Amino acid sequence: MIPVFDLHCDTLTKGGAEGLSGDPNLQWDLPRFKQGGGQLQVHAIFTPPKLRMGDATLFAISHIGEWERYLRENEVGAVRSQADLEGEGSLSLLALEDGAPLGGELSMLDFFFELGVRLITLVWSCDNEVGRGVTGTGPALTPFGKNLLTKMENLGVAVDLSHASEGLFWDVLERATKPPLASHSNARALRDHPRNLTDSQLIALGKKGGLVGLTFVPAFIGCPPSKEVEWEFALEEGASQLANHARHIADLAGVEILALGSDFDGTTNPVVGDASGYQEVLLPALDGVGFSRVEVEGIFHANAHRYLSTVLPT
Ligand SMILES: [Zn+2]
Repeated sequence: MIPVFDLHCDTLTKGGAEGLSGDPNLQWDLPRFKQGGGQLQVHAIFTPPKLRMGDATLFAISHIGEWERYLRENEVGAVRSQADLEGEGSLSLLALEDGAPLGGELSMLDFFFELGVRLITLVWSCDNEVGRGVTGTGPALTPFGKNLLTKMENLGVAVDLSHASEGLFWDVLERATKPPLASHSNARALRDHPRNLTDSQLIALGKKGGLVGLTFVPAFIGCPPSKEVEWEFALEEGASQLANHARHIADLAGVEILALGSDFDGTTNPVVGDASGYQEVLLPALDGVGFSRVEVEGIFHANAHRYLSTVLPT
């Protein structure tokens, strides 16, 4: 079994500690993740767009309480430093999906860092205090966003550009002194969707030493039968279509850029089924497009391990 590092799921937000510990109604839980070879999961707190400023902060804090309880009750190790990556057993890295809980205050980054946050998806699809999301219209990277980027790099918090508008992506890439990542995005050349990365974005991210987490969301892999069912349809042969994205990205930007970012519990009908499916469903699909065993090990965990060893605090 090849160990798995998965850079994004929404189970913490959807199910709290109970859901993470074991809930067959969810797509990810710890028993199934272990069954699928899971070792490290990035658990994101997704702030709904209707919550902003203090409401967003409180929402995040309450979910961090759930995360702490999940760690304690299941003996899961928190990844707060490079050394934590070498921990025995199951690991979890805490993330904010949307910088809204920071409320535009730099000091709030210190606060969330102390609580264990080690990755921040700068924006969700709408705009926030940091910058412009894929459906937004505001400034790409705001003055607050510029200061935040520097401070995240200094502290050792990974900068996630999934959901970022192209303007924000390029602003960050120009300024970044450490590699950013896109935790759950695929290739725009194979599926023309604003949540996917263009070839030039992929090449630039590869040159910086960044990562892209292949995501299991049908709408980011293939075309829905109609716009109305974009978030509900199931994709035939979805895993092999996702493997085509992997092949394209590797040929373009180098296989070292590839990782996994399932988006379990943030999507319907993920093409890898559930958290037990990495070996049974995804592995044969990657084999099918010619990746060697060493390359698959890179995609499953080694590339993410290398990346986090560069970005996290010592
Ligand atoms: Zn997302």
